Amino acid sequence: MKFVETRGTVLALGDVCDHCLGRQISLKYKGKPCEKIGAALRAAKKDADIAKNIRKKLKPYFSKDCPLCGGIFTRLEEFHPLIIEKMNEAQDFNSFLVGSRVPSTFKSAEDSLWQKIGSEYCEPLKRELNRVMGSWIEEQTGKKVDFSHPDANFLIDFERNRVELSLGPLFIYGRYKKYERGLPQTRWPCRECSGRGCKKCGGTGKQYLETVEELIAEPVLEKTGGKASSFHGSGREDMDARMLGTGRPFVLEIAEPLTRRLDLKQLEKEINERAAGKVGVSKLRFSDKDEVRLLKALRYEKTYDALIECAEPVTKKELSRLDLYFKGRQLMQRTPTRVLHRRADKVRKRRVISVKSKTVSEKEFRSVIKTESGTYIKELITGDEKRTRPSFSIILRKQCSCKELDVIGIHTLKPLFKGEKWER
Ligand SMILES: [Zn+2]
Ligand SMILES: [Zn+2]
Repeated sequence: MKFVETRGTVLALGDVCDHCLGRQISLKYKGKPCEKIGAALRAAKKDADIAKNIRKKLKPYFSKDCPLCGGIFTRLEEFHPLIIEKMNEAQDFNSFLVGSRVPSTFKSAEDSLWQKIGSEYCEPLKRELNRVMGSWIEEQTGKKVDFSHPDANFLIDFERNRVELSLGPLFIYGRYKKYERGLPQTRWPCRECSGRGCKKCGGTGKQYLETVEELIAEPVLEKTGGKASSFHGSGREDMDARMLGTGRPFVLEIAEPLTRRLDLKQLEKEINERAAGKVGVSKLRFSDKDEVRLLKALRYEKTYDALIECAEPVTKKELSRLDLYFKGRQLMQRTPTRVLHRRADKVRKRRVISVKSKTVSEKEFRSVIKTESGTYIKELITGDEKRTRPSFSIILRKQCSCKELDVIGIHTLKPLFKGEKWER
C-alpha cells in the first residue's frame, strides 16, 4: 500500500496523533522520531483529500483522544516522577530496559489497522513507548539501555498508571578451593522434612549446616542486599573430597541486589577470612549469564590425588605396571551404584590420561590421576563390582579402596571469552 493510502486509512480512524501516524511507516525511516514522520506525512499536500474519502467510507468512531494510543504520548511526563522514584530504589544500576503495559484495546485497534494497511513498515505502539521512555532515562542518568542483560527493568503500566521495578541478577565469577572434607558444594534440603524445618535439622530445613555455596554467598548477600543466591559450579567434587590446586571455576548469582558497587578484592578477603580453613576464593570478577552457560557447557580435564588402600601388600613394580597400563586407557563406566538413585543407569566411555603412583606403606599408595571430564574416580579405583572396567582392583588383582580423594587440578580446554585466558 502506498503511503498516501496508508495515511488515509490511518487518519480515517479518527484523531490519530502524529506519533501513531508516523509509527505506521517508521521502519522505513529508522532513527527518525515517529512524531516527526507523522507530522511530515500529515502535512504532505499530495492527494490530501484521499484521507477524507476513506474516512467517510469507513464510518469510523471518533474520539477526543487518538484511537490508537488514547493520547498516551501527551501524558508521558506524568510518568517521569514515578520512574525517578523507581530509579532511586534501584540505586546503582548500570544498564536498564523499559517495558510497557498498555490497554488491550490499543493492541486490537493496531491489529485491525495492520490488516488494512499491512505491517511491513509499522512499529508496534509498545516499542515506540519503550524507546521514547528509554531515551528519556538515558538522558536523565547517562546509563544505557541493554536488551540482553539489564541491571534494572522498568515496566511502565499505562493502564494502572504505575511503574514496576525488577532488578536483574548480579553475577560474580571466581575459583574456589575446599579445604575441609564433608562439605557439600550447594544446599541440600533436610531429608526428613524436605526443607520445611524439623527437629532433626534444628528448624533450619538444611541437611548440612554449611556448604561451599553459603560460605561464599553470605558475605556477598550482606554487602549487596540481594534476596537470594544461586551457585553455578563447573561440576562438583564429591562431598568427602577436597578441592585444591588453583580451585574450581564458579559463578555466583545474586538475585535482586540493591547495590552492585562492590570492591571485589575486599570481598575476596572477607570471604576468605570468614571461611578460613574451610573454603577459599580467588580471581573474583564481575560476570554474566552467558558465562554461566559457558561454564556449564565446557568440558574439563581433571587431576586427582587419591590415597588408596589394598587388601594385600602392593609392590613398586606392580604400581609402575599400573601406571603404564592406564596411560591413555579407555574406560567403560556404568553409573556407580552410589549415585544410581539419582542418575540414569547407563554406560559411559571415559579416558584416563595418566596415572602416577607411589608407595605410602605396605598396603597403601597414592596416585595422581588425570582424566577426561566426567570420569568416576572412586569407581576407577575400586571397580564398583565390575561396573567400571578396567579398574585398579582388576589390574592389580587385589581389591582396592579409595581412602582419601582430592581434586588438585581443573584444566579448561578452550581459550575463553572476554579476552581472558583461563589458567590451565
Ligand atoms: Zn496516538
Ligand atoms: Zn528437617
